[in-house]
Amino acid sequence: MSALAKNYNRRKIAFKRGKGSFLYSTNGKKYLDFVQGIAVNSLGHANPYLIRAINKQAKKVWHVSNAFIIPEGEKLAKRLTQKTFADYVIFQNSGVEATEAAIKVARRYFYSIGKPNKNRILCVKNSFHGRTIAAIFASGSKKMTEGFGPKIAGFDHFVFGNHKSLKKKITKNTAAIMVEPIMGEGGIKVIPDWCLKELRKLCNKKKILLILDEVQCGIGRSGNFFAFEKSKVKPDIVPIAKGIGGGFPIGALLMTKKVATAMVPGTHGSTFGGNPLAMTVGNAVLDQIFKKGFLKSVKKMSKYFFNELIKVKNDYPKLIKEVRGSGLLIGLQFFNDQRKFIQKLENNKLLTIRAAENVIRILPPLNVKKSEINLAVKIIRKVCKEYK
Ligand SMILES: *Cc1c(COP(=O)(O)O)cnc(C)c1O
Repeated sequence: MSALAKNYNRRKIAFKRGKGSFLYSTNGKKYLDFVQGIAVNSLGHANPYLIRAINKQAKKVWHVSNAFIIPEGEKLAKRLTQKTFADYVIFQNSGVEATEAAIKVARRYFYSIGKPNKNRILCVKNSFHGRTIAAIFASGSKKMTEGFGPKIAGFDHFVFGNHKSLKKKITKNTAAIMVEPIMGEGGIKVIPDWCLKELRKLCNKKKILLILDEVQCGIGRSGNFFAFEKSKVKPDIVPIAKGIGGGFPIGALLMTKKVATAMVPGTHGSTFGGNPLAMTVGNAVLDQIFKKGFLKSVKKMSKYFFNELIKVKNDYPKLIKEVRGSGLLIGLQFFNDQRKFIQKLENNKLLTIRAAENVIRILPPLNVKKSEINLAVKIIRKVCKEYK
């Protein structure tokens, strides 16, 4: 019997090792892993470059306090700001710490300019920003918040796609709007570029901040370094996590100089966030993702994968409703409950994971090979054919 609490509905497989896109189970089976820790292992399992980087650093220094200068973190922050909208970075250990830091920075910014009542955060109803007490109330999801009251004040919600309700919910106390450019847990729902542009305009007009949660869709996952880049929109605050550590827990908050000015000594901190071991891995992940042609190849593989999946959808129009997403953040939306299908894919040695709205999430590593995509498509086709 497991001594782990039952807060997960775990599937009945364990793995002893991984290599690239594949996982090997303890009972000797080989799986094509298109979950990759939910968009975490950007470079697949046991990536030799990452192994070298972490081993080298492990022999030097793992952890020092943020009371000291950490050169590896200085370097990672510099690289993240040079390549993006951001001027400053705060390092954390997870996605939810980054989204919480985003909320803190937004509120602290208005506090610092003498508007402490501008502190409410407007979010999409049933969105996902992580599992801390604040973040679950940011999500506005009944399922996530049930039993965890009292309700945390300071969050308002609008319905995805309902622009009227969004505008109505903005008050003089709104500090920021926080959305995911591509809703991951929510079912791979993409906010169109024109909507992001309008959202930016609206925020400018109302003098509020735009927080784009790129924890899942960032770091090359969408085909661009950030999913919002395509829209040419400049956010104020961007939490990231999943993909940046390639499997090592790293979270970070990226922000403009304007809002960062509010974060004076003592306003925020983390014991582990930004330690030399984590920062070394983050830098090694960026070495690969920033390589010339890397994101181009993600886009190329994405285009190929989408084309193949659309063919499958066209062959099974009563089963698959939509193929959606961007880059290698792919959702197959089913007409009915998708869980049995996920199980059948697993039986055929392809690992995928669910999202809301009957969606199966397909998340290969960003360096996936065409032959691996072909294998996945073959398995998906086989299950479609057998599916009743
Ligand atoms: C996964 C996720 C989070 C939370 O990340 P954790 O590391 O699990 O805390 C927050 N926001 C989005 C969009 C996510 O996908």
